[in-house]
Amino acid sequence: MKNDSKLIQAFLKQKQQQSLYRKPRISESAQQPLMQMDGGKYLSFCSNDYLGLANHPDLVNAFKQAADKYGVGSGSAHLISGHSIEHQKLEEALAEFTGRDRVLLFSTGYMANLGTVNALLERGDYLFADRLNHASLVDAGLLSKAKMKRYPHGDVAALERFYKNLPNLLNINDDKDSFVNSMILTDGVFSMDGDEAPLRELVKVAKQNQAWLMVDDAHGFGVLGKTGAGQLEQDSLSQEEVPVLMATLGKAAGTAGAFVAGSDDLIEYLIQTARTFIYTTAMPPSIAAATRASLKVIAEESWRRDKLKVLINQFKQGAAQLGIELMPSNTAIQPILLGSTERASKLSKALSDQGILISAIRPPTVPEGEARLRVTFSANHTEEQVDQLLNTLEKSFK
Ligand SMILES: *Cc1c(COP(=O)(O)O)cnc(C)c1O
Repeated sequence: MKNDSKLIQAFLKQKQQQSLYRKPRISESAQQPLMQMDGGKYLSFCSNDYLGLANHPDLVNAFKQAADKYGVGSGSAHLISGHSIEHQKLEEALAEFTGRDRVLLFSTGYMANLGTVNALLERGDYLFADRLNHASLVDAGLLSKAKMKRYPHGDVAALERFYKNLPNLLNINDDKDSFVNSMILTDGVFSMDGDEAPLRELVKVAKQNQAWLMVDDAHGFGVLGKTGAGQLEQDSLSQEEVPVLMATLGKAAGTAGAFVAGSDDLIEYLIQTARTFIYTTAMPPSIAAATRASLKVIAEESWRRDKLKVLINQFKQGAAQLGIELMPSNTAIQPILLGSTERASKLSKALSDQGILISAIRPPTVPEGEARLRVTFSANHTEEQVDQLLNTLEKSFK
């Protein structure tokens, strides 16, 4: 964009005409199903607070107590003087919870992905990424000097073909000891689709090719698995099988930040090399304390995962009865595919006029022609609220 206000205004006008204009709503209540927003009351189905923990009293208390003791700001990066005992305890608790040797905290998931991918890949390496990966994983690949190849969504055969062709690309003969450094990078639960990556098969391909396998479990952590430890717990995948696990704390865990879990060596290596860990301020200690309280609630209040499943099934059955087509997802992310950006924006607006908040997800967040309403559920929703959603959808679809 040139430094010319006329051009910027023309750009903004065009975005509005294309129904692609983005604008934040102003929330005046805690994150919960009933939201006070932009001066109105809404029943929200678009938060990632899947377990309803963002406003849980145990987390709020832990946060307040830590703030009383440690103040608000962490003051500096982890490697200077910002690594508090609360960060340390959270890393240890997360390692135990995920069954990994060690954990490293990052201030956001975006930064965890940029930092980790770039620490592990350099010029001449290969990155194989699912086409529908989250924007932060795409950006991590673009920032790296590795060659990024994107395989069609969930298409393990296409991924294997990339690997078969690799020796030709590289002109390597059959010297068994030399292998090209590569990484397979995928969302666990896909953020805009709600479906799950074929992790077991990806593990196989990674093993055959001595590749790193990195899984972003932003939408599985807290929700999937018997104790809520995420998709790797659900699929019984060990640290050896998935050496790099990343998950965020701002979604089901209800707080903020992210972590990478793996071997002792991997974490030590990231501490030395991950620039988004080294050159940024540590998250406030009170966030770490609240997150540790969250882990306890996640493990102890398993009814939240059960309740979420009940609500998801209720919605899927209800939508099927109404003839509303959903995408193939069993998770708390239940998108309604609409196609045109205009249609998605109109329906989102019609719903909000009736007090229901669901945001339209438009390109470039999703591919062109695949605009959708991304419906998400929280354990704090009631069955009556899901009925209300279905009734309003029925009216609005007509
Ligand atoms: C939300 C999200 C992120 C980014 O995490 P933040 O902590 O919000 O920066 C990364 N990956 C996926 C799949 C996500 O959904």
